[in-house]
Amino acid sequence: MFFQKVKLGIVSIKQPIRPRSRQQSAVPLYNTLMQDVYLGLGSNLGDREAMLREALDAIGLLPGTVVVAASPIYETPPMGPQDQGAYLNMAAQIQTSLAAVALMRALQQIECDLGRAKNETRQHWGPREIDIDILLYGDSVIDEPGLTVPHPGMHQRWFVLKPLCDIAPDVLHPVLKTRVKEFLQATELPDSQEVFP
Ligand code: ADP
Ligand code: MG
Repeated sequence: MFFQKVKLGIVSIKQPIRPRSRQQSAVPLYNTLMQDVYLGLGSNLGDREAMLREALDAIGLLPGTVVVAASPIYETPPMGPQDQGAYLNMAAQIQTSLAAVALMRALQQIECDLGRAKNETRQHWGPREIDIDILLYGDSVIDEPGLTVPHPGMHQRWFVLKPLCDIAPDVLHPVLKTRVKEFLQATELPDSQEVFP
């Protein structure tokens, strides 16, 4: 069976650090409330398990952010181009006071720090050391250039839903009003090759 559960994820949970300085930004950096946010992580290059763990450690060090749950890790076949290796995928729950756009930027910086090629050189859905997606950001519905939340592919991708269901089966999609476990029940194996533009 290709879809194997690799092993139970064990992550170190670190205390949030205070931001050293507030950067100038056109968008708000912080919310007054901590938000429950669900992330999807994937890696199919390098030491894949180490990539996931390093990404989680880095996420836990973001200002105003705590990792509160991490799913098991699953090995899954690639979506899109098939001439690439299998992925390791997992989901994580964080609580953060970072605003959504600021969180996205911080996650993209972590992707770059861990070796993911810059946007202009990498293939869409091509191999990557680490991919970090914001699946859900509280109940927020966001549609901005570079950030769509809930993530438009989350409710159809087995490799997202399976680990997410391990940590958040009853969480509701704020637009489709469907629970994670219900999406998973309706998702075929292997994952459908739907398109996220
Ligand atoms: P996918 O996330 O569908 O696997 P990619 O990782 O190749 O595909 O897409 C990356 C692009 O998706 C980035 O340019 C990023 O700005 C954009 N994007 C839009 N919404 C989100 C989101 N919720 N989480 C992560 N990336 C997002
Ligand atoms: Mg992505």
